Order: sequence, then C-alpha cells, then structure tokens
Amino acid sequence: MSSSESGLDAGVCSFCDQGLRLMMRCGDCGELIGLCDECDAMWFVPDSATLPFFPSQPDIPCPFCGVGGGWEHWKRADWDDVRGTRWEAAVRQRGDRNDVSTEPGVEGESDAAGL
Ligand SMILES: [Zn+2]
Ligand SMILES: [Zn+2]
Repeated sequence: MSSSESGLDAGVCSFCDQGLRLMMRCGDCGELIGLCDECDAMWFVPDSATLPFFPSQPDIPCPFCGVGGGWEHWKRADWDDVRGTRWEAAVRQRGDRNDVSTEPGVEGESDAAGL
C-alpha cells in the first residue's frame, strides 16, 4: 500500500506559473481536464499555450456535460483514465518515471550462507 502521490499532472500552470495542472476526471461524463492546484484554472486541452478558463464557484460545472455539484464530482484521474486520451502525451512527459516498470527487487543480500 504505497501512498506515493497518486495524482497525475500535465505540467506547470501557464497562468500562475506556480501550480501544477492536475488531471481531474468528471465523475459524470468521465471527461478529463487539467486543473491548476493553485489558481483553479482549468484546461480542456493539454496545450498550455491555450488560455485556461475558470469554473464558476462553488458549482464547478463540468465543461463537457454541464453537471456541477462542487469539487466532489471531480475525481483525480489515474493512468487508466489518461491512457489513450489527448492528455496522455503531456502527462507522460511529466511522469515517465511513474511508468510501470518491472524493476528486479535488488536488495542488499548481505547475509551470505555460512558454511
Ligand atoms: Zn495556476
Ligand atoms: Zn462531465
């Protein structure tokens, strides 16, 4: 049960230049957005050169399906959500070391068998 950061992000927010664009998934339609954890800017698309929009608080309606209800209906996206979407490349650039790799568990085996 490793509780390493489970959240994926698509790079630094180009609006405030401080926050990370966290990958969030609409709990209703499943569409993905990038959400700055500092300034709450939202992106429909990975391209940070585009201008973000700012959801109306406190409803945070989904820009795709229009369902609101606050932050509760937004879930942190994981790789299963992101894979195969327009966000995949942007997230992968950031988190390539999070990629599932089969590292051989090499732990120092100092205890050699005695005679
Ligand atoms: Zn921001
Ligand atoms: Zn939605």
